[in-house]
Amino acid sequence: MKVLSVIGNRPQFVKAAPLTRALRRHVEEVLVHTGQHYDPELADLFFDELDIPAPDHTLEIGPGTPNAQLALILQRLEPLLVDERPDIVLVYGDTTTTLGGALAAAKRDIPVAHVEAGLRSFVQSMPEEQNRVVTDHLSQLLFVPTDVAVANLAREGITDGVHKVGDVMYDAARLFAPVAARREGPAAFGLAPGGYVLATVHRAAATDTREALASLVEVLGSIGEPTVFPVHPRTRHKLEQAGLWDRLQTIPGLHVAPPVGYLDFTALLLAARAVVTDSGGVQKEAYFHGVPCVTLRNETEWVETVQGGFNRLTGMDPLRVAAALADGTPPADADRPDYYGDGHASDRIAEAVVAWR
Ligand code: UDP
Repeated sequence: MKVLSVIGNRPQFVKAAPLTRALRRHVEEVLVHTGQHYDPELADLFFDELDIPAPDHTLEIGPGTPNAQLALILQRLEPLLVDERPDIVLVYGDTTTTLGGALAAAKRDIPVAHVEAGLRSFVQSMPEEQNRVVTDHLSQLLFVPTDVAVANLAREGITDGVHKVGDVMYDAARLFAPVAARREGPAAFGLAPGGYVLATVHRAAATDTREALASLVEVLGSIGEPTVFPVHPRTRHKLEQAGLWDRLQTIPGLHVAPPVGYLDFTALLLAARAVVTDSGGVQKEAYFHGVPCVTLRNETEWVETVQGGFNRLTGMDPLRVAAALADGTPPADADRPDYYGDGHASDRIAEAVVAWR
């Protein structure tokens, strides 16, 4: 059996790290990298340090609008699908790469497997929501991390092919946390464990308008304790365009840094007092490692973390962020329910892919 996996973004590299290992124990895998993320610190570094096999094909789509990137993926993936003749195409998450992989496969009548299916923010204008809804409706195999995601799919009439397997990001966290714990972590910034906040921001809603970027700068300026902020290249670019990059450098206690690899990021997360983020993956990782999370959005796909009191939604509002940070004591480690499975989602996915044929 041949599985063609399509990846192209930082969080997909993290998710692929455990799953590609599990898949290759059972099937032939052809790995396609779309090149949606192409900066070395968002791509190559992840292949190296997470020991992901080199891609068999790269589409090199590079920068562009989502429509332009989608068009290139469709155009460049189709001949590969014809040549490789996979039995199934596997896609991850909710990016343009996800939608491109699923749509190209569906148009060639090749079954689609979607890892991290069933998540919903119910905000249709979010690019990620568009990508995940369409991908779910094109998929024959839907690998779902949570009960909430199963219910979301059922509400849309999708019950066939749904497998609740747990979350592959939890698999990755378990696999790599022991290695990450040996990294330098906060000492690289002259900070002590427990003595800082870790921040990440990359979504369109936070970076696409000058107004949103100004709010972001205000939020970062109001945290009031040492903060490590590894800046996504997209966010940096938008801040520079808006003339706000220099202002960021003047915020006392804010350590502005380039994005770091997964191991260094995990080391920073493990020792952080709290996390401030708009990232989906980082919200979950904060939960995995028992770090209080403040999410700079008004809704989240990972509702369990909020309902359990581990994650607080503040939008991009400095006062709400400050209040959430002041009040951020999560329940003790032992009280964290296994919302995201047992760290063996990848094995279950590989087994279901084989059994499905
Ligand atoms: N991450 C990283 N370095 C950083 C920031 C994040 O390795 O400087 C990792 C993080 O641990 C998580 C993933 O990137 O595994 C999340 O990706 P991102 O926030 O870009 O996307 P999202 O999860 O929102 O789709």
